Amino acid sequence: MRPSDLLHSRPEGLYCPPGDFYIDPVRPVDRALITHGHSDHARPGHTKVLATRETLDIMAIRCGPDFAGASQAMPLGEKIRLGDVTVSFHPAGHVLGSAQISVERNGMRIVASGDYKRACAAFEVVPCDVFITEATFALPVFRHPDASDEIGKLLRSTRQFPERAHLVGAYALGKAQRVIRLLRDQGYDKPIYIHGALTRLSEYYQSQGVDLGDLQPATVEDADKADFAGAIIVAPSSTFADRWARRFPDPLAAFASGWMRIRQRAKQGGVELPLIISDHSDWAELTATIIETGAGEVWVTHGREEALVRWCELNGIAARPLHLVGYEDEGD
Ligand SMILES: [Zn+2]
Repeated sequence: MRPSDLLHSRPEGLYCPPGDFYIDPVRPVDRALITHGHSDHARPGHTKVLATRETLDIMAIRCGPDFAGASQAMPLGEKIRLGDVTVSFHPAGHVLGSAQISVERNGMRIVASGDYKRACAAFEVVPCDVFITEATFALPVFRHPDASDEIGKLLRSTRQFPERAHLVGAYALGKAQRVIRLLRDQGYDKPIYIHGALTRLSEYYQSQGVDLGDLQPATVEDADKADFAGAIIVAPSSTFADRWARRFPDPLAAFASGWMRIRQRAKQGGVELPLIISDHSDWAELTATIIETGAGEVWVTHGREEALVRWCELNGIAARPLHLVGYEDEGD
């Protein structure tokens, strides 16, 4: 059996013929296995969905309770038989509930890692024959600094500009909660104001034991505008151009993203305070993970495939890009 007999790309997504399922399909299918709740991976409209309990809950929050015909929660580390293959889910460290999916048949194992992050969060190295890796930040220039140092920059700025509201752009699922948690880890115990787009997901994180402290709605009335001087407000950066954002006192725009490593990107986006905080692996984490899995073959997807394929070849590992379309990760 060749690896491509076990998994290969189709227009709908990554397909497993002997198990008759897709992983993170971009079009509605009969059976979908979902790695995590970001919208390009977790789309509504499948007949059956298998995912972690958290991912299913997040899909219900974001897409409504009827996001799939039927759903089944998959506990991490447990094995399930689908057709002729054995499937198991393993922690990926990307967002709450994120998982790598291991697909095994006749002694061959392929691991589809979805999006993953090594530092600080749980990630399990799953030994495999073929490792499918993301490539969002797959260039040597991407080296994510220590996230607590980045949060330190934000806290210093609030002390330096106590009259200005600090607006921190962060994706609604994962990044926003990571930023808030990092602030709490540094002892910041004032209320943190959040945009309405973050409310339900942040409440869900809290319900799952991620303590985010005192969160307040970021709604400004003229009367209490002064209350937001020096305050930290977390919101999707897409809202910064809205009237809503202009009501805060002299707002200072920060943005938490791995892309903030690229100065030009920060500048173009009008970001005054770039914070390099990512939910994805940087170059060092990607290459270290590939080696640790012991995979003899690597398939590279969504991102900068060429550089990582080349690195694998130089290190004696067979590699090729997996040409999957439709993934523009919302949570970088
Ligand atoms: Zn993602």
